[in-house]
Amino acid sequence: MMSNSSQKSMFKIGDVLNNTYKSAKATSFEQKIVDSRQQGPKVSDEHGLTCPKCKEGHVIKTDKVWYCNRGKDACGFGMWRTVGKKKLSDKQLELLAAKGSTRIIKGFTSKSGKKFDAKLVIVDGKVKYSFDK
Ligand SMILES: [Zn+2]
Repeated sequence: MMSNSSQKSMFKIGDVLNNTYKSAKATSFEQKIVDSRQQGPKVSDEHGLTCPKCKEGHVIKTDKVWYCNRGKDACGFGMWRTVGKKKLSDKQLELLAAKGSTRIIKGFTSKSGKKFDAKLVIVDGKVKYSFDK
């Protein structure tokens, strides 16, 4: 698979891209070129969601809470999976982290026991209800 000639041409492509985008690493471009040859163009999300609060860390997902990998002192972002007695889906949490708001989610329960529908939004790094239509 890896003949000398294909390695050489890959290295040249890497050089050109590296000169064009000086901040990027040649190795990652070469990796992408190999990937796109094998699988076609593809957006990778293997590094997960960017933290919506600090924009530098990324979101670590657990069963109970999604939080910023930079930790409490550096950032402190976190969002519970269960809000208003309703367990949110991965899709809803991903949308919230990526866009800063969800669509209307039905079936929250207030502290007084009333059911209600609302969007979730992130304001100043905290998850809040929004009743905007
Ligand atoms: Zn963060």
